[in-house]
Parts: sequence; structure tokens; C-alpha cells
Amino acid sequence: MSRLALCRECDWVSRLPPRRPGQQAHCPRCGHHLTGVAQRDAQAPMAWAIAALIALGLVFVFPFLGFSTHGVGHVMNFGDTVSALIGDDYGALAAVLLATTVGFPGVYLAALIYLCIAAGRNRRPLPGVVPLARLLRPLEPWMMSDVFIVGVLVSLIKIVSLADIHIRASFVAFCVYSLLLLRTLTLIDWTALWDAVAPVPAPGRDIRSGATGRSQSLVACAACDTPFVANRHHRCPRCGKRHHVFRVDRIQLTWALLVTSALLYIPANIYPVLSTITLGNAQPQTIAGGVLHLAEAGDWPIAAVIFVASIVVPISKIVALGWLCIAAQGRPGASLSRTRAYRLTEKIGRWSMIDVFVVAVLATLVQAGALMSIEPGRGAVAFAGVVILTMIAALTFDTRLLWPDSAYPDPDTESSA
Ligand SMILES: [Zn+2]
Ligand SMILES: [Zn+2]
Repeated sequence: MSRLALCRECDWVSRLPPRRPGQQAHCPRCGHHLTGVAQRDAQAPMAWAIAALIALGLVFVFPFLGFSTHGVGHVMNFGDTVSALIGDDYGALAAVLLATTVGFPGVYLAALIYLCIAAGRNRRPLPGVVPLARLLRPLEPWMMSDVFIVGVLVSLIKIVSLADIHIRASFVAFCVYSLLLLRTLTLIDWTALWDAVAPVPAPGRDIRSGATGRSQSLVACAACDTPFVANRHHRCPRCGKRHHVFRVDRIQLTWALLVTSALLYIPANIYPVLSTITLGNAQPQTIAGGVLHLAEAGDWPIAAVIFVASIVVPISKIVALGWLCIAAQGRPGASLSRTRAYRLTEKIGRWSMIDVFVVAVLATLVQAGALMSIEPGRGAVAFAGVVILTMIAALTFDTRLLWPDSAYPDPDTESSA
């Protein structure tokens, strides 16, 4: 049976034919994924999620990395990154590290397994399934185990000339866990999962495909994607999530977050992100100083990674989102290229976290008493704030405001699968 889909990015209503395994539906107007890839085996994500959780458990069983210089050294466990940051009075950084690398992904994987079990039970629902399903997707952008691995590799290259580094079993388990998590994410078909845990309610009146949702007072649920007629209660009839119709005023919120992140980017660059203490001498290093230091030492590829992740990405993200806010408040035009620019901005933002993870790993690993140690600096907290605020700013931006209400695509491309 065909179904109606309302694109969350451009507000276009399409009629989708049933998907066969391996097929995915895209919006004919903007190309946004309207559904996930239909899976032959609905339980496949559960098997991968269980494997990922086991690998995550192993991360805490073995040592993570070993470090030694001039006969002084120590072995760090993954959990030490958190306790070392808390010990240095950087609890905020510890919380960000713990939540984004293992906290959110762990909760996500466990909840996903529960949802898959619930989905396989047909007519015997399990408690709490719908609120849980509603909570999971907003966690996805905040799971950064892959960014953390790059952060660890960058840290190792930064100190490999100063000390002997040993990769231990827990780091390998972390890489396996991260790969399994990525595989799980690609396998989840939220459309099928929602269909299994909560039925689609009847729309209540005729809905036209090939027109905007706004012209028919329709909204798409941000959690379960169901198109429904905007109601007085502002709640999705399928999952109960609150919805917003067109919130031009939300642009003010995006602007406020952008201005705050731009202001916070100043202390992030003025204050050191870390200090290297050698024989009692502290050498503070700012973001730009770190890039220059790496470039002078001939580590060009790593200097380029940090330069792009910590300088190019945050600045271009703030500028691009500001430009999109101005475009959304002006006359619609070039909607598709602007939407693509938004998607790129949203995707690359999380990679800025690399430098924060580098600071966390170095501050935990490089502990050789008076001989040599590394401490985090205030700049790292400000920089983590910039990354988080720009990510929230991107999430508050409503791409539907970039699209005109009246444009119609070619009727031949009304639906695709
Ligand atoms: Zn669309
Ligand atoms: Zn819903």
C-alpha cells in the first residue's frame, strides 16, 4: 500500500510506493531521505547493536594506551580520561567526553535493542516503547566515537617524538565498538520500526501529494515523520511529540546561538587549550599555536587536520548559518543549493570536536611527574562550547523557510523509491 510522506526539509508531500528490501525513498523536491533503507531482516540492527554493546563493555575491561619517557611511564584506562579531567577541575569537559563517546551511544544501543524486541512482538506491546523511540533519533548527532578515534590518533602523532606510546587492547575494542555502532546506524529503518511499534493514524481528511504541507495545514512529526493536520494540542497523534508549525521566530534563536558561539570563539582562541609542563616550565599552547607548532615540526597532515577542524569548520559554520538565516528571512530562491549548504554544515560540525578530544587524551596520557605532563587549558572549555552551540544552532534552523510555498515539481517525479 502506498503511503504519504511529508518532507521535513522542504515541506513537500509525496506519495510513496511500498519499498522492497534495499530501497529507500527520497523527496522529489529536495532529495532528503524520506525513509531509511528497507531491510530484508528487521532484526539485523539488533544483532549489530548487541555486538557493539559487548565491544563497548570490553573498552572498560582492558588498558587503553601506554606511555613512557626516560624510564617513567604509566598505562591509562579509558575511564581515566574522565577522572583526570575532573581532577584538573575540568568537569564540563569530562561530561562532554563521557556523554558523546560512550554515554549517549550506550543508551542508544540498549534502547534500540529493546525497541527491536518490542517490534518483533507484533500485537503485544512492551511498556515505554513510544517515548523511547521518540528520544533516540535526537541523540544521533551527539554520538562521536568516530571523532574520538581521530582525536586519539592525532594525540599520538603529536607526542610520538617525545615518548614511547603503546596501543593496548581497550583502544582496539573502542575502534571495533565504533565501527559496529556506525554499521548499526546504517541498518536502522526508522519507518519500519515505527510501523511495528505504533500504527499510523488516519489523516482525518484528504491530503494532496505534489503540494506543500503548509498549503494544507499539515505538519510532519519530528520524531516519527508522520504527516498530520496541525491540531490545537500541538501534538503528533501517533507518538505524542509536540510539533511546531512554521516558526519564523525560531530564526531569532538560531541567531542568538550563532552570536554566542562567535563571542565564545574569541576566548577559545585567546586562552591556551593545553599546557605542556616540562621540568616545572609551563608552555601554554593556543589552537593557532598548536597548528603552527605542528607545521614547524613538519607534521603537515596533522597540522592540516587541526587547522580544518578547529579553525576552518567553526568559522565557516557560523558564517554559513548566518547567511542561511538571512536567506530564510529574505525572498526564497536557490532553495536546493541553500538546503545542500545547510546539510553540509550540519554534517561536518561534529568533527570540530577533534581538538577537545586531543586535549582530553593528552592530559590523561602524558603524566610523567616533574619530567613532563600536559594539563588542559580554559580555551578547550570555550572551544567545546563553540562546537556544541553551533551544533544546536544548526539543529534549530528550519530549512523549510528556504523553500517557496507555491513551486511544483514535474508530476513524473512526484514519488520515487
Ligand atoms: Zn524535500
Ligand atoms: Zn510522531
